[in-house]
Order: sequence, then C-alpha cells, then structure tokens
Amino acid sequence: MAKKLIGVDLGGTTIKFAILTENGEIQQKWSLRTNILDDGSHIVPDIIDSINHHLDLYKMTRDQFIGIGMGTPGTIDREKGTVIGAYNLNWKTTQNVKEQIEQGTGMQFALDNDANVAALGERWKGAGNEGDDVAFMTLGTGVGGGLISNGKLIHGVVGAGGEVGHMIVKPDGYLCTCGNHGCLEQYASATGIVHIAQDKAEEYEGNSRLKAMIDNGDEITAKIVFDLAKENDYLANTVVDEVCFYLGLASANLSNALNPEYLVIGGGVSAAGEFLLKRVKQNFEKFAFPTVRTSTQLKLAELGNDAGVIGAASLARQFVNED
Ligand SMILES: [Zn+2]
Repeated sequence: MAKKLIGVDLGGTTIKFAILTENGEIQQKWSLRTNILDDGSHIVPDIIDSINHHLDLYKMTRDQFIGIGMGTPGTIDREKGTVIGAYNLNWKTTQNVKEQIEQGTGMQFALDNDANVAALGERWKGAGNEGDDVAFMTLGTGVGGGLISNGKLIHGVVGAGGEVGHMIVKPDGYLCTCGNHGCLEQYASATGIVHIAQDKAEEYEGNSRLKAMIDNGDEITAKIVFDLAKENDYLANTVVDEVCFYLGLASANLSNALNPEYLVIGGGVSAAGEFLLKRVKQNFEKFAFPTVRTSTQLKLAELGNDAGVIGAASLARQFVNED
C-alpha cells in the first residue's frame, strides 16, 4: 500500500497541515490558529492533538505514514530537532519539538526553517521542476530564501545559509532589523516597498495618485503601489523600478555564485506577477555573468500557500528507507 506523508507549516498566525501521497499530491488540508500565549507552550501540544484528531477523523493509522515534516520560523538544530529564537511564536528558549511530536504521534519527524521548506516545495511540485539547482526568494513582510545546490539545501555551518534577505544591495542604505544597512529585505519586502514609496513621494512634485494618497495619510500597501504602477502612475512606476533594480541585482549576484537552473520568486509581493518579473529580468540580464544569463531562468512561484506544507512533507521522505 502506498504510504503517505504529513506536512506542517508553522507560522505566527496559523498552522497549516496537509496529508500527501508519497508523490506530493495533497489529499487533505486543514489549519489551526497559532496560540502563542504562555511562551508558545501550547503550540506543540496543539499540533500533536490536531494530527491525532484528524487521523481518527479520516480513519487512518500510523503505519500508513512515512512520517511528518515541518517548517518553522526560528533557528533550527536539525539533528536534535530543536527550535530557538522564533519570536513570532514566543519561543525564546529551546523547544524540543522533534522529541515531543514523535512521542505524541508515534511517527518520525523532521524539521527545517520555513523559507527552506517553501523552497523544497517549489522545487518538488512547483516552478523548480524537480531541478537539482534551484534558488528561491520569498517576498513577504520580510524577504526569505532557500538555496538548493546539487539536490541539497544549503544550510551553512550554523544554519544561516540562504538568508538572501540580508544580502546587501545598497551599502549605507536603509537600516535593517539585523543591524546592518542596505539589506534586500529593506527594499523588496512589502514594508520595504512602502518605505521607498514614502521617501520618493516626499521628493516628487508632479502629478501622481500615489503621491496624493501618501500626502493624504492614506494607508499604502505594496499591492497599491503595483496596481497604480500598472495604471501608469509615474511615481508608482519609479518605486517599482527601484524595487526591481534591487531584486535584479540580488538575483544576478545569487545566480553568479550558484548558477541555479531556476531562480524562483514567491511570497505575497510576487502576486504582482509578470509585471514584476519582466522588470526584475531586465535588471538581472544587465548584472548576470554571460553564461549565467543564458542558463539561469527567473520564474514566478507556482504553489502559493501550499509550498510550505508540500516542502515540509518532503522532509519526511528521508524516512522511506529506514524501516
Ligand atoms: Zn538585514
């Protein structure tokens, strides 16, 4: 009988779950609100209860499953299966996630960080086309990334590999939460785009709906900036040009180092679609090394919110041959 996988995508507001076939087809999906109260101490017990409850609900047994994989924020020790410093979960001290979940569910468990897991998902069932060399950037409230080289995620010596959001694209630029200046995250995240818009609006004196909204004190989002740019708002277009310049520069630098088959751009900001991708590509082509320019392909992510659970489930495939 074909065995199944469980994928868990743990985030600061929701925990997403899915049961998948060994080939990565989602069969069941559900989600829970993340209860971060009491130092996040309810999170792991809630995950265990929810998995056990749903297996009962679907009349499934433990031996139908290969194991559970999970993506989580924070710093991860993959060997020990622990997480520390996941501040949006209120996990300030070390959490023995693997030990508790294996005990509570009777299944084998593996974890990695959320951006890495999304990269695995896109590589397996999305834009990465099962390639051995895939770079992934996610543009959301922050900028995250996952780099797959020779079929393996790059973790680095202490797990900080793939932190593409902190690639410096403008020395002495905007101050980043990491303490440095000019990180990509400050220019290509949803909040970074709004920051650029506000700064440009201050200097701009021409006609612009975006400028009128900002001067009016209306709430601006990255989506509004892109929508106005598509409607030929001049100021909005200069903002998008700047964002795409930094994204193209970062994509070229990353690709010059790794020469991936695909560089996949996902996250909420990537909903701007081809409009965004086309301008990022123009800058990428300007900065990329000639052989990289012709061999690395920039693409939009294809799985949306499912990338996390699919990639998480793929972590459990390592247990296939262990029985
Ligand atoms: Zn930074």
